[in-house]
Amino acid sequence: MLKKDSSLLVDNFPSPWNAQSLKEAPSPSFIVSETLLKRNLEMLKNIQDRTGAKILLALKGFAMWSVFPLLQNVLHGVCASSPNEAILGREEFGKEVHAFAAAYSDSDVQTLLPIVDHLLFNSFNQWQKFKPLLEQQKKDIEIGLRINPEHSEGAVAIYNPCSVGSRLGIRLKDFEKGVKDFGLSGISGLHFHTLCEQNSDALARTLDIVEQNFSKYFKGLKWLNFGGGHHITREDYDVDLLCRCIERIQNKYKLQVYLEPGEAVALNTGVFKTTVLDVVQADLPIAILDSSAPTHMPDVLEMPYRPNIFGAGDADGGTNVKKYLYRLAGKSCLAGDVIGEYSFDEPLTPGMSLYFLDMAHYSMVKTTTFNGLGLPDITLLKEDASLKIIRTFGYEDFKMRLS
Ligand SMILES: *Cc1c(COP(=O)(O)O)cnc(C)c1O
Repeated sequence: MLKKDSSLLVDNFPSPWNAQSLKEAPSPSFIVSETLLKRNLEMLKNIQDRTGAKILLALKGFAMWSVFPLLQNVLHGVCASSPNEAILGREEFGKEVHAFAAAYSDSDVQTLLPIVDHLLFNSFNQWQKFKPLLEQQKKDIEIGLRINPEHSEGAVAIYNPCSVGSRLGIRLKDFEKGVKDFGLSGISGLHFHTLCEQNSDALARTLDIVEQNFSKYFKGLKWLNFGGGHHITREDYDVDLLCRCIERIQNKYKLQVYLEPGEAVALNTGVFKTTVLDVVQADLPIAILDSSAPTHMPDVLEMPYRPNIFGAGDADGGTNVKKYLYRLAGKSCLAGDVIGEYSFDEPLTPGMSLYFLDMAHYSMVKTTTFNGLGLPDITLLKEDASLKIIRTFGYEDFKMRLS
C-alpha cells in the first residue's frame, strides 16, 4: 500500500498556498503567489498614500518581470544596478528608471542615457567624467550622487555599505572637497543606501546623521533617495516611524523622498519546491535534493543563512527538534553543497517534495548553471489558486552562457 502521497507536507500549507497547485508545480521550481505579492503592494501603497513618497522596485532583489504589470499599479518604477537591469526596467516596467553603479564604463553610460530618468554616481570623478555626455543629452535626466553616511547599523559585513573600506557612497570629507572643486550645479538629489533587512529605527538613526552632515547641501535639490534595505513588509516593521521619517524630510526640506526596496516587495511571497532524490548514510542521514545551494539558493552559502522549510523542525540542539534528523544537500559536485540540518516528523524518502520558504527575492535573480545544473522553473500561483508555469529552462540556457 502506498502509505502517503509523495508531497505529504503540503497538505497543511497555509492559504493562499494549496496542496493541489503545489503538487502540480514542477521540481525544482520557484512558486510565487500573486495574492501575497498584492498583500505586500498594499502595504507599500499605504506608505505612498500617507506620505507622498515614491517607492521603486530594486531589480537586484526581484526581477520576475511577468509580474511587473501587477507591481506597476503601485510602484513608481525601478532602480537598476546595471544597463541590463535598466533595459529590463524600461522594457517591462516603464515608469521611472533609476540607475546606480559603483562605477560606469563608457558603454554603460551610453546604454543608460536614453533609458534612465535618474542616473546616480558614486563619485565626483565619475560625474565629471560623464558630464559632457550628460549635457549633450536632449532628454531631461536627473543626476544624483550617492553619499556614504559613515553610520553603520550592524548589517553583516558583505551587506554593509558603511563597513570599513567600503567603496559605496561619497564620504563627508570627500563630498566637501568635491563640492569645493566642482560645485553641485546639475545635481538634483542625493542617495544613500545603508540598510539591509532593517526596521525603521535603523533608518531614523541613519537619517539623523545624514541630516546633520549633509542637510547643508539640500538647498536646491529636488529629492532624497533613502535606498533599500527597509524591511517594510515584515510583520513587526514600524510603518509609522518610517512615515514620520519621510514626512520630516519632505516638509522640512521640500524634497521628494524615494525608497527603493527589493526584498520588501517580494518578502514571503514565494517558495522553492525541491524533491528528495536519494537518502545516503554519512555521519548522519543525508537527503540529496534535485536542487543545489550554489546554483539555486546561493545566498544560503553567501550570506550565509539557513532557510526555513515548511513542516520541518530545527537541527539537533534546537528548541523544536522533530523525530527524524537529516542534513539536506544538493546534487552538485561541490562538497560544500549543503543547505543545512533539519528535522521532520517522518523519514524522508526519495520522491518527497520539500518547500523552502521565502524564496522569491534574491533567489531567481542569482541562479547559475554551474555544474550544468538546470535552472529551476518559474511559476506563479494565481489569485484564483491555479498554477501558471511562466518559464521552464533547458540545455540551451546552459550552452548559451558558454562558447
Ligand atoms: C540592493 C540595493 C537596493 C535594494 O535593497 P533591499 O535590501 O533588497 O531592499 C536598493 N538600492 C541599492 C542601491 C541597492 O544596492
